[in-house]
Amino acid sequence: MSKIQMLTPIVEMDGDEMTHILWGMIKEKLIRPFVDLKTVYYDLGLRHRDETSDQVTIDAANAIKQYKVGVKCATITPNAARVEEYDLKEMWKSPNGTIRAALDGTVFRAPILVKGIEPCVRNWKKPITLARHAYGDVYRNTEMAIPGPGRVELVYTPVNGSPQKALVHEFDDAGIVQGMHNRQSSIESFARSCFSYALDVGQDLWFATKDTISKTYDQNFKLTFQKIFDEEFAEKFEKAGIQYFYTLIDDAVARVMKAEGGFIWACKNYDGDVMSDMVSSAFGSLAMMTSVLVSPDGYYEYEAAHGTVQKHYYKYLNGEPTSTNSVATIFAWTGALARIGLINENQPLVDFAHKLEEKTLETIAEGKMTGDLARITTLENPTVLGSEEFIDAIAEKMA
Ligand code: NAP
Ligand code: MG
Repeated sequence: MSKIQMLTPIVEMDGDEMTHILWGMIKEKLIRPFVDLKTVYYDLGLRHRDETSDQVTIDAANAIKQYKVGVKCATITPNAARVEEYDLKEMWKSPNGTIRAALDGTVFRAPILVKGIEPCVRNWKKPITLARHAYGDVYRNTEMAIPGPGRVELVYTPVNGSPQKALVHEFDDAGIVQGMHNRQSSIESFARSCFSYALDVGQDLWFATKDTISKTYDQNFKLTFQKIFDEEFAEKFEKAGIQYFYTLIDDAVARVMKAEGGFIWACKNYDGDVMSDMVSSAFGSLAMMTSVLVSPDGYYEYEAAHGTVQKHYYKYLNGEPTSTNSVATIFAWTGALARIGLINENQPLVDFAHKLEEKTLETIAEGKMTGDLARITTLENPTVLGSEEFIDAIAEKMA
C-alpha cells in the first residue's frame, strides 16, 4: 500500500510526561503506517525549553506563522515544585501563553461526542464549542486594597492633551478596587476569529456579554462584534446558512442549558474560563475535549485540552500499567492533518484524518476504552484497555 503524501509539513511540538509517551505511539502506530508524515519538529519538553532558555517555544510559534498549521503535545507549565524537580534556570512561562501571545488567537474548545459517553445535560445532542477571548479583562487587572476613607478615581493621561478623570468611589471606610482593560485591536481579532471559525465549521455563532450593566466596556464588545459582522461576514453567513446571535450573558447561559448544541459560544475571557469548565465536564471528560487556537491571520494550532497527566506518568516510570486516554491527542493530530490537507487541497489526507477519527470513536462505541471512560460509560461491561492497548485496538481497525 502506498502512503498518503503531504505537500507541505506541519509544525510538530512535542511535550512532556504521559502525553509525550502517547505522542510517540500515536505517530508510530496510527499515522506513519498510512501517511508519509512531514513535520517541522520542536521539542517543547521542559528540559529542552530550559536548555534553550525557552527560545524553542518562540521558534515554534514563528514556525506556525510560516507553515500555517501546528500540532502541540501537552506541556508542563512550571511552578515552584517543577523548578526543583527539573532543576530549572527559571520558572519559564506557560508555552501556551507564549504561543497565544505570538499568534494573537482565540481558543476554541470542542467536546468529542461518542456513543456510550452521554452528556449530563440530556438535551445536548451535538457538541457545543466554546470560544474564549484570551486577552485582558480581569486577567490583566490592577487591584488595590483601600485602607480607609478617601476618593478613588480613574485617570487617563493621553500622550497629547489633558487628562480625563472619572470617580470610581468616594470611600468613607476601607474597601477594594480593581482596574481592568482591553484593547480594541484584540477585541476585533477575537470577533474575526470567531466569525471565520463559524464559517469554517458551518455552525451558528452565539455571543453574550453583560452590556446592560457595563454600558461602555461590555457594550464595546457587543458593538464591535456587530460592526465586523455587518461589514465583513453577514453575506457569507447568509450564503452558508448560518446565524450570528447576540444576547445577554444570563440569557445565553439559560438557553445553552435548553439547547441541543451544534453551535459556537463566544465568551469574554472570564466567562470563557468558567463556562468552558462547566461545558467540558458536563460533556463527560476533559480527556475528550479538543482545543484549537485560531489566529486572525489564519494560523491554526491544535492540541488536547488536558494536561500532561503527571500521575499516570509516574506510574508508567515505575513500570506499573497505565490507562491514559489518547483520544484528544489523536484528534489534535487529525485536526492538524485535515487542516493542512484542506489548505493544500489534499483530499486523501483529509479523508485519512476523518477515517482515523471515525475508527477511534468506533473502538469506544464497541466497548473498548481507557479507564477514565469506563468509569462513566453507559455501555454495559466495557473492556478497560491500557494506554498502548487502546491505541493498538484503533490501529487494528485502521489496518
Ligand atoms: P491533567 O494532566 O489534565 O490531569 C489531571 C487528572 O485528570 C489526571 O490525574 C487524570 O485523573 C485526569 N486526566 C486528564 N487527562 C487524562 C487522560 N488523557 N486520560 C485519563 N485521565 C486523564 O492535569 P494536571 O495533572 O493537573 O497537570 C499536569 C501538568 O499538565 C501540569 O504541569 C500542568 O502545567 C500541565 N498542563 C498543561 C496543559 C497544556 O499543555 N495544554 C494544560 C493543563 C495542564 P486520574 O488521576 O484520576 O486518573
Ligand atoms: Mg478555568
